[in-house]
Amino acid sequence: SSDSHLIGLVGTGIGPSLTPALHEHEAAALGLRYLYRLLDLDALGLPPAAVGEVLAAARLTGFTGLNVTHPVKQLVIEHLDDLSPDAAALGAVNTVVFRDGKAIGHNTDVSGFARSVGAGLADAPLDHVVLIGAGGAGVAVAHALLTLGAGEIRVVDTDRSRAGTLASHLRRRFGADRARRADDLATALRGADGLVHATPTGMREHPGSAVPPELLRPELWVADVVYRPLDTELLTTARARGCRVLDGGRMAVFQAADAFRLFTGLEPDADRMLRHFDTL
Ligand code: NAD
Repeated sequence: SSDSHLIGLVGTGIGPSLTPALHEHEAAALGLRYLYRLLDLDALGLPPAAVGEVLAAARLTGFTGLNVTHPVKQLVIEHLDDLSPDAAALGAVNTVVFRDGKAIGHNTDVSGFARSVGAGLADAPLDHVVLIGAGGAGVAVAHALLTLGAGEIRVVDTDRSRAGTLASHLRRRFGADRARRADDLATALRGADGLVHATPTGMREHPGSAVPPELLRPELWVADVVYRPLDTELLTTARARGCRVLDGGRMAVFQAADAFRLFTGLEPDADRMLRHFDTL
């Protein structure tokens, strides 16, 4: 029935994910019967290319929908019937909803980051924003920022071809003056309003910071997508130097909240989810 839901997360290395707990706790608060299962491809002994089989099985056995993560956000697309505009523009899906016999792909990393900026960096200037990291998270962040009206994104990545590919992709979707590759972080940050960090640096498994402290002026706002820990070395340093900061927890919570709404048709309480996230 529509008040009971079965959801799965498909990917590899998803054991530590906080998303199942976030969904189930919010569903319990709303009085829903809601099970959120891990469908770990490694545990299932399946290669990423088998994502279509997992999708077909979930569809057949009555799942409401799936979250999809590394390494199958792109691979899943060929198995879907339709895509939201963001998912189509990115070529990446993190949420699949089964409805009326169809599988529809969405990307709530984009909407989640946009909402986190609205909540945690309201009214921050967005004329010039530097993005470090043009991988999965960086692509979603860039589309979110330009959708929010950012003037220009300067994309920095140690893999220059990745930065260049993302910048040209963004120019095609948003306009010729809206994005460019930047090869030197210090130069890119000159005159910038804000900085979004979207590399794995600063995670527990990858300690450190991708940004030299002396580049952090107090007028610069600084957002990190890393959320384990919430207080990364980058954010701790930025805060100490007087910068306004946004941690990656809000993006993680809002992407889950937006997926929850797509699955259930109900509006979750994002503040309650944030408070719960803080306890995990
Ligand atoms: P990815 O591997 O797809 O991309 C990382 C990119 O950063 C690569 O292109 C790499 O070349 C580049 N890079 C690495 N070190 C660099 C450096 N020092 N300077 C410049 N570029 C560098 O990774 P991803 O999937 O985009 O994930 C990145 C981080 O974002 C992870 O910590 C992940 O946990 C986090 N994440 C958070 C959320 C959230 O909801 N908050 C969502 C998705 C991902």
